[in-house]
Amino acid sequence: MKDAGEDVVAFAAGEPDFDTPTFIKDAAKAALDAGDTRYTARGAEKLKQAVADKLARENGQHVQSDQVICTFGGKHAIYAAMQVLLNPGDKVLIPSPYWVSYPEMVRLAGGQPVFLPARAKDGFKVTPRQILDAAPGAKILIMNSPCNPTGVTYSPAELQAIAAAVLQTGLAVLSDEIYERLVYGQTQAVSFASLDKALPERTITVNGFAKTFSMPGWRLGWAAGPKNVIAAMRRLMSHETSDVAGFVVAGGLAALTSPQAPAAIEAMRVEFEKRGVHMAARLNAISGVQCVQPTGAFYCFPDISSHFGRTIGGVKITDSLTFAQAMLETCKVALVPGGAFGEDACVRLSFATSMAQIDKGLDRLEKVLTL
Ligand code: PLP
Repeated sequence: MKDAGEDVVAFAAGEPDFDTPTFIKDAAKAALDAGDTRYTARGAEKLKQAVADKLARENGQHVQSDQVICTFGGKHAIYAAMQVLLNPGDKVLIPSPYWVSYPEMVRLAGGQPVFLPARAKDGFKVTPRQILDAAPGAKILIMNSPCNPTGVTYSPAELQAIAAAVLQTGLAVLSDEIYERLVYGQTQAVSFASLDKALPERTITVNGFAKTFSMPGWRLGWAAGPKNVIAAMRRLMSHETSDVAGFVVAGGLAALTSPQAPAAIEAMRVEFEKRGVHMAARLNAISGVQCVQPTGAFYCFPDISSHFGRTIGGVKITDSLTFAQAMLETCKVALVPGGAFGEDACVRLSFATSMAQIDKGLDRLEKVLTL
């Protein structure tokens, strides 16, 4: 519709709307100018060490650089981890709603996703009890806090309780911490592996540069974990993709080590926080819409199910997909149906867009949805 010139307000973006900070782009340009265009060798080593230093500095995790792998985005790190950890039929516990790619990555590795419901009435969080009940026969638990699509962050105490439950089981944990720096209000994101000294040997931490540093198109991420798992991922990657590009590594190194980084990422975080507060308040003011206040990431995930049964713009609304279709067709607002994330009562709105666009889109939704 946009290509046809229509004025669509898109709340679908899964990436920051900011440009990559200049000091990061400059580092990559300098690397290109210096001829860093060959297969990567030592550059990636430096980035692995910078990741290990960051984990010690910010996350209370102490790893050697051979416990780190740099990948083509956080997505690739999760995919590679599933490929090396899962045997056919292995069960993976996934709190639901979940990021769309987890179940598919589990299935691509021959595994079987088992969903743990985390409903809005429970703050979109799973409990230690659910994990203990589902653990027998399962191999991995995927944790994602702050969470895409719900915008929810587990408190340190909640994660501690989940960690205690995990330690009573044989579960390994894949902790996707890609939104760790985008947290709001008093929220504190803690790293799962730091919660107990017995956790590092069974936790794979995944992160990347896309969200924190506004570098989605650079395709750069990483995983840290037990040496044997990381070594297996390296062997897989050596036949699959080889290493990430040298000039991209240079950008990543600048992101992790430059003295300009903290101010640059804080400026983006502050802007996201303002938008998240505003979007959730406006959504909650619309009849039949209920939104949990996001404490992290850049998504609102409101429950819109009280509109099911209505016909809007000729579309009979029966689920999140038909709701999204009706909004697109009647008021040209693009939302992502919650069904894609395992929660059909909700839709996802990204606030990785300007305040002006947020107000324009919400004015339209309010007009259409007011009964
Ligand atoms: N994990 C979550 C929860 C995400 O939302 C995303 C991207 O949308 C990723 C991982 C992967 O990010 P990337 O591969 O761009 O680093």
